Amino acid sequence: MFPRASEPRDCSRSRSAKRGAGIANTRAHLNVERCALNSLPWTLSELNVFFIMRRAIYPGSFDPVTNGHLDVIERARKLFDEVIVAVAHNDEKQALFSLQERLDLLQETAAKIDNVRITQFDGLLVEFAAAQKATAVIRGLRAVSDFEFEFQMALMNRKLEASVETIFLMPKEEYTYLSSRIIKEIARLGGDVSSFVPPVVGKALGRRFAR
Ligand code: ADP
Repeated sequence: MFPRASEPRDCSRSRSAKRGAGIANTRAHLNVERCALNSLPWTLSELNVFFIMRRAIYPGSFDPVTNGHLDVIERARKLFDEVIVAVAHNDEKQALFSLQERLDLLQETAAKIDNVRITQFDGLLVEFAAAQKATAVIRGLRAVSDFEFEFQMALMNRKLEASVETIFLMPKEEYTYLSSRIIKEIARLGGDVSSFVPPVVGKALGRRFAR
């Protein structure tokens, strides 16, 4: 391991070693390289963060984002250097909120979490993941009912792009029965959703279903 920039290193000796013995003196040459690296304001592990980032995509409709989604994002960001929350343009699902509204709600909630970025995507998820240099796709598993569909998707995605792994994360027990669909249903009927969604989402639902 290279020492931190603050650790002392005798660079003058290695410079003269390089002058004297030339490139054939591998050891001295390596020391010169290390000294050059030492003069940078970053440690090697910090440089790794730039060059070998572990990045994951968390795709979904997020119509709207719930505390269950946020719980999964919190778990994912502890495992990866960056988590990209990717809102799908989904023609199949009839969304309550427009794509822009869903992105805005995520910006006001999930984007406040460190190392989380919000974006949108269409087309094949694995192609998007590869283009973003992500090595993993995060999916939340709530109950056995999620499993069959998720299992099929994960295997198909692996077939399409073997370099991208699907990782399943379970939320806190109290969020396992939460879904955007149920939240919308409760809000539509005038129920209190404040313990299931962030306040900004609660307000957006209130406006949407104002009587
Ligand atoms: P849904 O599948 O409910 O329409 P999304 O498409 O927004 O919601 O879901 C994106 C991902 O988030 C999926 O992997 C889904 O399983 C996961 N997810 C949604 N709600 C929860 C929750 N309450 N707990 C854990 N994961 C969840």
